[in-house]
This record gives sequence, C-alpha cells and structure tokens, in this order.
Amino acid sequence: MEKNQPARRDFIKLSALALGGLSIAPAATAAIKADKRLNILCLGAHPGDPEFGCGGTMARYSEAGHQVTFLYLTRGEASDPKKTYAEMATLRTAEAEKACKILNTTPKFAGQIDGNSVLNKEEAEKIGKMIMAEKPDIIFTQWPVDGHPDHQVTGLLALTAWVRSGRTFHLYFYEVNTGVETMAFVPTDYVDITAWQEKKKGAMFAHKTQDPINTYNDYFKPLEEFRGLEAGVKAAEAFIHFKPGDEKARIVGL
Ligand SMILES: [Zn+2]
Repeated sequence: MEKNQPARRDFIKLSALALGGLSIAPAATAAIKADKRLNILCLGAHPGDPEFGCGGTMARYSEAGHQVTFLYLTRGEASDPKKTYAEMATLRTAEAEKACKILNTTPKFAGQIDGNSVLNKEEAEKIGKMIMAEKPDIIFTQWPVDGHPDHQVTGLLALTAWVRSGRTFHLYFYEVNTGVETMAFVPTDYVDITAWQEKKKGAMFAHKTQDPINTYNDYFKPLEEFRGLEAGVKAAEAFIHFKPGDEKARIVGL
C-alpha cells in the first residue's frame, strides 16, 4: 500500500489508454499498446445500466477514439406492469439507442428477458461467444453482489467469459444504485468524469421510462460526487478491477 493513500492504490495516470488525466487500467499498460484503438465492451442487464453505471467513462473512451459497445442482456421488458413485454421492449430499446447516440457507443442486445435472466451452461456459451466476437480489450460489467438477480447474472456471465478466455481481456465491475442494488462495492480504481458529467446526464435522461430525474438526484448525482471526494476530483465513477494474476503481485516502488 502507498502510505497515507490507501484509497488511491490504483489511481494511475493514464497515457496508455489515451484518456489523459485520471483514469483506470493500470494493468492494461503492460498488455496494450499506447496507440491501439481499443475495443471496449460494456455489459448491462437492462437498458440504462451501462449509462448510469459508467456512462462518463464510456464517453471518455469514445471521445479518445476507442470503439465502445454496450451489450444489454435484456430489453427491460418487465419494467412496467401496465404495458406488455413487447411494448416495453420497443420503448426501452429506443431509449437505449438514443443514449448510445449521445455517448457515441454501439447498442447490441443479447436476447434474454428482463426479470428472468439465466446463467446456465447454454447461456454461458451463447453470451460468451457474443462477448468474444467483439474481440474485447476491456470489459465493464455489473458487480454481481447486487439485490437485482439480473445484475448478478450479468456480472457472472462476464466473469465466466473472462475465465474461459484465459483472462485475455481486462475486467472491470461498475456499480448502480449503490446501497439498494449494488452492495459490498469497494473500488480499486476511479475515473474523473467531471468534464463528462453533463454528457452522461443526457444519456441517463434518455431513459424517460426510468424516472431519470429522481434516480439521478437520489442516487447517481450523490454517488458521482462521493466517488469524486474519494478520488480528489469533482465527480468520478468507481470500479473494481479484477487483475490478471501477475498484476496482483505488484505494488508501487517495488
Ligand atoms: Zn438494471
């Protein structure tokens, strides 16, 4: 541990990923060339999860010239009992597409059903294939210790793909609605999103069916500010980085 800075142990300046300033991906420095255009894949259980959880970081990657894809496990079919699954899927797909346009990311859908997500042999193989088809350099996914079963499944599907790939890509977990959904989340890395807060807000507010004003004011605005306080910036997103084995055995100065 660095003396006096336990919360910043992986707080790395990041020329390697061409994001500049504060950011993540310390381990990527070893494996990824500085000028490589990265394939970033962000998995979310529902439309909105990638945007709310790490939209600022994804906007930064995209602006830096990297390819960013959002893979939504479901289309949020079950989110309004007054509407049919087909109606909600149409509405929420359109919201996701609008949000992705704002962040300059590409939306894709994995075909599972909201509220009934599945982690079994067949789905692990199917989703694993979809993940590897994107040739990801880095994957962001939901932290599986979460009150929502769909979030749990999303995190574990990505984790399974990471293990089966031989840990060939970098794996980061993001948080949503911390305290209510995400739990036991102890970040290893932070990204300064101060200059991307408004763009992220635009993407979050594209999800009109999800009560974005209250969701933003009650959860994500305070969370961005709290993570910012931890990181020493105005607003930040936080992540848990699962490091490949050899990266775990290094500390600064040795
Ligand atoms: Zn969700």
